[in-house]
Amino acid sequence: MIHFDVMDGAFVNNISFGIPILMAAKKAATIPLDVHLMINEPIRYVKAFAEAGADIITFHIEACSDVFATINEIKKYGKKVGISVKPSTPVNEVFKYIELVDMVLIMTVEPGFGGQSFIYDTIDKIKFLRKYCDELSQKVDIQVDGGINNDTISTVIEAGANVIVSGSYLFNSKDMAAEISKIKSL
Ligand code: ZN
Repeated sequence: MIHFDVMDGAFVNNISFGIPILMAAKKAATIPLDVHLMINEPIRYVKAFAEAGADIITFHIEACSDVFATINEIKKYGKKVGISVKPSTPVNEVFKYIELVDMVLIMTVEPGFGGQSFIYDTIDKIKFLRKYCDELSQKVDIQVDGGINNDTISTVIEAGANVIVSGSYLFNSKDMAAEISKIKSL
């Protein structure tokens, strides 16, 4: 998948890109677009991102006044739902939504900037969530985003993550395809 980070300068300090760039990416992309909304009250923009070509829409639990309504809004457009927590948010806050979502994104850095160092405290959250989902026999993807590289990748996979976002590590590598193959082989 192509992971597409949307930042609004409010939920996070940085500003990235939005709907017109997603539409352009959709024209060229032959693989799913995984849209990670780091924006306040994402429910306002679900329709626009869905129509622009998102296949998965992930939002932050911390950014919503009504999480259930946001989930329903994404489902209304037939898109997969991801729910995300920042490093400081306890992972059990997503438990009451777990049967409604396709994916939980556990941020392994503070959202908002690329190139940060992995926060190791997040490993316990991944393990805890995987155990919880296994006990419920709930098939949920656990995604990690931030600070993923050669040193951290095995740790997150062993903890239970199965969707791995890698930005700076891949873009700074000499051979991106080879690095992706290496990650997939793990
Ligand atoms: Zn992201």
